[in-house]
Amino acid sequence: DSESKKLSLFYESGIYYFNDSNAVFVDPVRVLNRSYNGFKVSPSSYYPRFFESSLPNPISTVTSSPTKRKRKRKRIAKQPRSLNDRELIAVQRHQEARPLLLKGHECLLKSTALLEALRTLKNDSGCWKRECQGAQHSFIELRQEAPLLEVTLNLRLDDPDQVPNDFEDSPSVRCCEQIVLPAFNNLVANDTKVEAVAEIQNNHYIIPRESCFYMSDLGQLRNLIPAHADSGFNLIMVDPPWENASAYQKSRYPTLPNRYFLSLPIKQLTHTNGALVCLWVTNREKLRSFVERELFPAWGVSFAANFYWLKVKANGSLISDLDFFHHRPYEVLVLGYSPGKMNSSGNHSSFKPLKDDHVIISIPGDYSRKPPIADLLLDYVPGLKPPRCIELFAREMMGGWVAWGNEPLHFQDSTYFVER
Ligand code: SAM
Repeated sequence: DSESKKLSLFYESGIYYFNDSNAVFVDPVRVLNRSYNGFKVSPSSYYPRFFESSLPNPISTVTSSPTKRKRKRKRIAKQPRSLNDRELIAVQRHQEARPLLLKGHECLLKSTALLEALRTLKNDSGCWKRECQGAQHSFIELRQEAPLLEVTLNLRLDDPDQVPNDFEDSPSVRCCEQIVLPAFNNLVANDTKVEAVAEIQNNHYIIPRESCFYMSDLGQLRNLIPAHADSGFNLIMVDPPWENASAYQKSRYPTLPNRYFLSLPIKQLTHTNGALVCLWVTNREKLRSFVERELFPAWGVSFAANFYWLKVKANGSLISDLDFFHHRPYEVLVLGYSPGKMNSSGNHSSFKPLKDDHVIISIPGDYSRKPPIADLLLDYVPGLKPPRCIELFAREMMGGWVAWGNEPLHFQDSTYFVER
């Protein structure tokens, strides 16, 4: 029947389309796996949170004791204050998104077969043997300690269909060509049609087919500006390290003040035919208005739509109350168009109109890790297919993409993978 067809399509693609709705459910593990032949992303390392287990749920474990919480609530109740202008706008935005989010969530709750499938998304058989124990590199520290660090790229040059499933332990055994390159401030490319294994100081990184990374600080991003605009990018995904009060965030990666993002060379990275620009924004109103009033205008990007990422647990429930002001269970992806070069009659290319009605539902992975949703945007990406895609501030790589940031190999560490 149609339900089981949809489910088997979901198992293949990682995307489940609900009937009569612009809401979809995404399993990032399955989406990412389409970039690999010999390896698979390990579901248990992708999903460290939000599955029922003996460990307490991170969202429900509030550090303060119940009595302290009660006291806090009382204090707030005693001093009611009216919302300031910014808070009022935030509430209004939330009220606008709310019916759409509720409808999307309802679709998920009605899909019993999918809900059943969610419970098993995390099942796998552990990580790539001897890699499991190794500590991960912090590239941000490494860059300071060893700016001339090298990466060894082990490329397979044979037919991707011939990939044996009995991989040897050592990645070098199965390689056909080894290239040694500077790890930082350098474009490292796997041009082959199958993943490569990169080695940096005894740690291994799985590099998807036809992808490259450029690991550098913001200052060197300009080196990625193409010499000719027709080799620019049609899809530009940006997830900036916004400043954030959370101490937990601070321990994960460095952040930058907003003014640094104003000078991102979006215009120069744009393809002659234009680009769809997708920017992840948190729910802080200060940020949303900065993006609309300053950032997009500075980039020359015209606003097109907001998409919503709704976060659920493995049992289908929202990760927090939808109306909880300081911890909304959703984030916003702001979409806009960056015009390419004008054509001979002085017009910009015309872009496909977008509506604010897309809800992407998934179970969150690691802290701040965004679901891979490029597939859902392809219809709106200007230019020829396949589009040229780049992710700015990336922590992972995808087949066919350029990944730039100060730690684009973070989630490529072999500890996040299992052998196929
Ligand atoms: N989209 C990513 C994901 O899904 O995992 C998360 C990106 S995270 C919000 C922002 C990234 O920007 C972090 O990896 C951080 O280390 C990086 N970053 C911070 N300051 C930077 C700088 N000056 N230059 C380059 N990258 C920087």
